[in-house]
Amino acid sequence: MGPSVESALIYYVKTASRQPKLLKVLKIWIMPRRRFFRNQLPDHSPGDAVLIDKDWWHGQILALVQTVTEALSSNVSQEGGLYVGSAGIAYMLYYVSTYEPFYQHKANYIHIAQSIFKRDLTFTERQSSKPADRVSFLLGPSGLYTLGALLGKLSQKEDMVQDNINKFKAVASECIKPNFLGCGSDELFVGRAGFLSGALTLEKRIGIKVLDDDTINSICRAMVMSGAEYSKRKKSKSPLMYAYYDTEYLGAAHGLSSILQMIISCPSFLTADPQSAQVVRNSVDWLLSTQTPDGNFVPATDELVSSRSESEELVHWCHGAPGVVYLLAKAYLVWQDERYLQACIACAELTWNKGLLKKGPGICHGVAGSGYVFLLLYRLTDNKKYLHRAVQFGRFIFSEEFQAEAKTPDNPFSLYEGLAGTVCFMLDLLQPDRAEFPFFDIF
Ligand SMILES: [Zn+2]
Repeated sequence: MGPSVESALIYYVKTASRQPKLLKVLKIWIMPRRRFFRNQLPDHSPGDAVLIDKDWWHGQILALVQTVTEALSSNVSQEGGLYVGSAGIAYMLYYVSTYEPFYQHKANYIHIAQSIFKRDLTFTERQSSKPADRVSFLLGPSGLYTLGALLGKLSQKEDMVQDNINKFKAVASECIKPNFLGCGSDELFVGRAGFLSGALTLEKRIGIKVLDDDTINSICRAMVMSGAEYSKRKKSKSPLMYAYYDTEYLGAAHGLSSILQMIISCPSFLTADPQSAQVVRNSVDWLLSTQTPDGNFVPATDELVSSRSESEELVHWCHGAPGVVYLLAKAYLVWQDERYLQACIACAELTWNKGLLKKGPGICHGVAGSGYVFLLLYRLTDNKKYLHRAVQFGRFIFSEEFQAEAKTPDNPFSLYEGLAGTVCFMLDLLQPDRAEFPFFDIF
């Protein structure tokens, strides 16, 4: 900035400070624009009870479900699968149907969800002509098969469960082929990590071991070999490293953290191959070593050298601590090492300070995704402070400030960007002991 510009600015600041309207304009122009609302919410005091007005929440959640279902005919695309397509909305309808106080709506919700499922399955399968495309979980067919099996179970249609499980299982052989996708075969949206998250979800929800241990172990082994080979070729500091379209992402979306998280969620593999388990753990420790002093993780390795300015920093589930925290929490449960728990606590503190995101209410890069961090920490530590914080974030979505200033996401009704995921989060505020970020349960 040249001296003349500087003196003009000083003059302007002096003048503006005497005129509140001008000061406001000045703030907008020259102050760094934050990606989050300043957190002025009351924090929890030790010993305080956390009061949750269930009736109020029921009313809000049901109204949101209605808004989302009304948008289905005009404002929701089939593209984008569970992530941002209508299939994600069908998952939300499935999820709210499992909540006992809403049983009176169950038949209606399942009916809508099943018609979305039937329509989207045909669409997705037609779009995924190559066998390798069927591995795709968050964006494609294997996610639909998971959804179909869940809906079949809930509506007690055994043939629907079996049909979808068979289709899901048939995809596994593709998953084992090295480099079955040219762009990166291991990540969460279209690669092996997503497929494993589908298998883990089905096992937990339906109680059927969809993939046998040999198959799971082969998929995990393919992930370890792929990461080790890439790391060696690129001389990475982490024993395992992956790239998706040439970017070495570190966060939950496409990145190292969700890949490692899915591997360590498969106990049969850790037992069967302790040597690989150690390599995986060393990679977790490498990722942990990159945690910034304020608790965050950069989106990709190229930002480890020169990171973003504070105003550009991402504190999202997709990129940043609110997504990596699931890996760290799982690592704590698997290896009982206190360092992982401390790292989770740092993620949660950061999320409390910078997690009231302006990008919208969703779970991928919105306030509900931040709120889920507190529900995770609540389940992990049993500390009521985190439940209080989750409720505060949930209520903030209804505040005037948020309603007036938050942006509308590209897919405002979807599971990951929009209101469908927000509904899942709000429902989980009412059942915090079993709260789970969609397809990311670590307990
Ligand atoms: Zn995101």
